[in-house]
Amino acid sequence: MRRGGITEKTVRFLAETQPATPCLVVDLEVVADAYKLLRHYLPLAKVFYAIKANPAREILALLDRMGSSFDVASRGEIDLCLHLGVKADRISFGNTIKKEGDIAYAYEHGVRLYAFDSAAELEKLARVASGARVFCRILIDSDGAEWPLSRKFGCSPEMAVDLLRQAKAAGLDPYGVSFHVGSQQTKVDQWDSAIGRAARMFTLLAETDINLKMVNIGGGFPAHYRGDVPGVERYCNAVMAAITRHFGNDLPEIVVEPGRSIVGDAGVIESEVVLIADKGLGDGKRWVYLDVGKFNGLAETMDESIKYRIETPADGGPTGPVIIAGPTCDSADILYEKTEYKLPLALKVGDKVRLMATGAYTSTYASVGFNGFEPLKTYCI
Ligand SMILES: *Cc1c(COP(=O)(O)O)cnc(C)c1O
Repeated sequence: MRRGGITEKTVRFLAETQPATPCLVVDLEVVADAYKLLRHYLPLAKVFYAIKANPAREILALLDRMGSSFDVASRGEIDLCLHLGVKADRISFGNTIKKEGDIAYAYEHGVRLYAFDSAAELEKLARVASGARVFCRILIDSDGAEWPLSRKFGCSPEMAVDLLRQAKAAGLDPYGVSFHVGSQQTKVDQWDSAIGRAARMFTLLAETDINLKMVNIGGGFPAHYRGDVPGVERYCNAVMAAITRHFGNDLPEIVVEPGRSIVGDAGVIESEVVLIADKGLGDGKRWVYLDVGKFNGLAETMDESIKYRIETPADGGPTGPVIIAGPTCDSADILYEKTEYKLPLALKVGDKVRLMATGAYTSTYASVGFNGFEPLKTYCI
């Protein structure tokens, strides 16, 4: 089976259960394998799973049992962890945009590791999270990422050095540096310059007796969609080579926050073809409408960024170009129009199609019920 394909277990589950569509089926064995593979190739790093990629309880419980820590972004994600029995010392509050009340809540519940990237956020932390470890997120370029996180997060490394000094003066523990090279990063060497920047910050701060301890290399490792991507071992080797190059023998604590690469390949969405239409425009393109779209799980088709592989029961026969759209009455609910997709000419209304490697950023990345279409239901098997 190619990575990001469907497992026997998922095929059997769909055949035996015949769940209503659309639905997401996540094979927990694939999640476990992805976690193990990352631990194998990056043994020195501590893994903080980025919960937002897929917060299904079964996934969190599995990763907790396997020893993972968790990167959370909100009070809701903290509660999710605590209710599952995750210890507070395995939680990192990694969102740089937090309400002061939520920081206080996290602190009361024992969370002692926080991200920030601005003076105002640092002030909040100093007020309600005294003595906590804080790490500053720096802004780097996310070239090569199919889902860039761009300029919303991070500050310049120069400013980060100043802020980490202020953190110490304000009674916090300046702990490290973080960055994110952009999600679904297709270039393995994208981590190098960011790690170099982090190392220079360690050196600069050491001059004023601040000894940073941690480099948090964020997420960014890919899932297997339509395009080819390098294997996880190539990413891990590139990251370790960069850390050794820039830090020499004095290796920092390494934190990695994978989301997509842990759960993406483990999921398959089954969807029904609702309508196939030719609009009489002579462009030779059929419109194929599915019961899943941008508002019930496929938000990452925004700007046609993430290109899922689609399998149909008619695969193998002749194909023709299609425009693929979701079921709602919103014209933004088109999945692929500019990107070339071809589907079998024999595809019929009522057929079940499968969107592969859809375990990440789908189930909770759905509207609460736009147009009466329910959010995507998840089955973890
Ligand atoms: C979303 C996010 C991640 C996960 O990124 P992936 O590209 O899905 O691995 C990691 N860290 C932070 C701070 C994030 O916001």
